[in-house]
Amino acid sequence: MSTKLNDMKPIHKFNNGNGATLCNSCHVIIETGLTDDLLCYACNVDYNRLMFEAAEEVLQAVKEIAEERIANTIKQRAEGYMNLKKK
Ligand SMILES: [Zn+2]
Repeated sequence: MSTKLNDMKPIHKFNNGNGATLCNSCHVIIETGLTDDLLCYACNVDYNRLMFEAAEEVLQAVKEIAEERIANTIKQRAEGYMNLKKK
């Protein structure tokens, strides 16, 4: 499944008079008639879980960078303090 919802377009099928809208991922009929829906309920749940996991990974990376910067700042200040004491 594409991870970019913005890249998806509604899939419309014109087998009968009303046409149908298909899921971008599993191609099941979401609605009879032509709608702007992109994913069926099940694929929407999967998609939201993927997005949540991706967001968690980004958050974890940001947290690690922040922790490293804080640790470096504390280390630099401690070293600066120790150098002041030596003088
Ligand atoms: Zn689906």
